[in-house]
This record gives sequence, structure tokens and C-alpha cells, in this order.
Amino acid sequence: MIHILLSRLRQGHRTLPYPRELPALPERFRGRPIVDASKCANTSNDGAMEDCRLCVEVCPTEAIALREGVPAIDLGKCLFCPECESACPKGAIHYSGDHRLATRSREDLMADNKAEYRLAKKLDAELMRVFGRSLKLRVVSAGGCNGCEVDVNVLGTIAWDLSRFGISYVASPRHADGLLICGPVSQNMEEALRITYDAVPAPKLVIAVGACAISGGPFRSHSEQLGGAASVVPVDLFIPGCPPHPLTILDGLLRLLGKLRKSA
Ligand code: SF4
Repeated sequence: MIHILLSRLRQGHRTLPYPRELPALPERFRGRPIVDASKCANTSNDGAMEDCRLCVEVCPTEAIALREGVPAIDLGKCLFCPECESACPKGAIHYSGDHRLATRSREDLMADNKAEYRLAKKLDAELMRVFGRSLKLRVVSAGGCNGCEVDVNVLGTIAWDLSRFGISYVASPRHADGLLICGPVSQNMEEALRITYDAVPAPKLVIAVGACAISGGPFRSHSEQLGGAASVVPVDLFIPGCPPHPLTILDGLLRLLGKLRKSA
């Protein structure tokens, strides 16, 4: 026993200092995309439109639309693959290292050259009073590949230690304050999701994690899925990605609960 205790002491403190310090992300991490209209073939060359659609055509989930010739990326559909970045000969799309992606509305999940990206705002005062210090979530796996569930579970490990923020996962929806939903919601999961949602006492929150839970993701054209959580229950927080990095999920949860500094 003494050896175990000594070994544990030698290991020291393993929990990441986030949010005080950002953890180092791997070089290949892809965060929020930046669209540079000045480089896009459709708007460069002194305004001569070239009708380039390479990024639109290469995208596997039809996440890109051209607005006045410039790509606008729907992050609710984006898989961060990033075929569009590779396909663009001008370098007009670049996937940055910015992990902050969560929004409060589906419409805000748009990366383009027009508007500033609207990150999730915290809950209103009444909901903050109820959930601000303790948020229990029931995770619902609604027919995806389990990639998002893996990153959701990572937050419970010693490195991330989600419970230090007052957030934890619970087994029963009756003990939960809300649902965290992954997957596109297969037809087989629709009724289960409704029943689970109804079993959570009001007021309740719903968090959609990953492209599948937001738009159906890579399954979006499949006839036996419903295109995401919002087709069944109202969603309060959208966290895009395929899957989102644990840091992106945690950032979204902490924004919702007003636990990040204004500058973060
Ligand atoms: S990174 Fe996103 S927008 Fe670009 S091609 Fe892949 S899915 Fe489409």
C-alpha cells in the first residue's frame, strides 16, 4: 500500500489547469474555419467573378454555400475533414486552431466572411440560479458512431475532471437537469429520446453534441434518421464537430454556465 501511495504522490497533480491555461492542442487539430474573401477566386482578380465552386463540390455534407461568390460554411453540417481547405487553390479557407465553436442557436453556426461568429451566451438569470452551481446531464446516444460519446466521456477523466465545474453525468433522466445528445436520432431512438426528455424535471436543458446531433452529419441523407436532436426536442446549446474535441465541448458547457472569463 505504501508503494501505491508513494507512486501516487510522485505523479503529482494531473488535472489540466484549464480554463486558467489553455491545454496544448495537437498540430493537426482543426478548429473554427476562417474564410478569406480576398483570396477567393470568385472575388479576387479585380472583382472578375470566376464562378469557382471547388469547395462546394468537394464537401461531403453540403456544408458550404456561396454567398455573393464567397464560401459560407455551416458548422452544424461540417465534418472538419477538411477537403475544402485542400481543394481551394487560393487558400481562401483555412481551419484555425480556435476550439471555441458552441452557439446558442442553429443559425449562429455559420463561418463566413460577413459576420463575427456568435459564441454561446450564458443562461438567463433565472436558469443560472437553478443550474449555475450544479448541472446534471443524462447522455443520450441517439444512433451515431459513438465518436462524440468518447469525447464526452473523456471529460470525466482525471485530466479534465468535469465535476470540478459542478457538471456531472447521471444515469437516470429523473435525476438530471438536462440531456446531452449525440447522434442523428435514428427512427429507433425517436421514442426513447422523447420519453427520456419527458422524464427530466422542468426546467431542463438540451445540448446537442456533434454534427450528427445538429444536422444528421454524415448520415443526413439516410432515410432512417431524423436529422438531429432539434427534430425531436428543443435544443439550448449546439456544439459542432465530428467529433468535437473535449476542449470544445467543455468550452460550450462553461460558456452556457457563465464560468469563463469574458475575454475567453
Ligand atoms: S471541412 Fe467541412 S465544409 Fe470543408 S469539405 Fe469537410 S465537411 Fe465540408
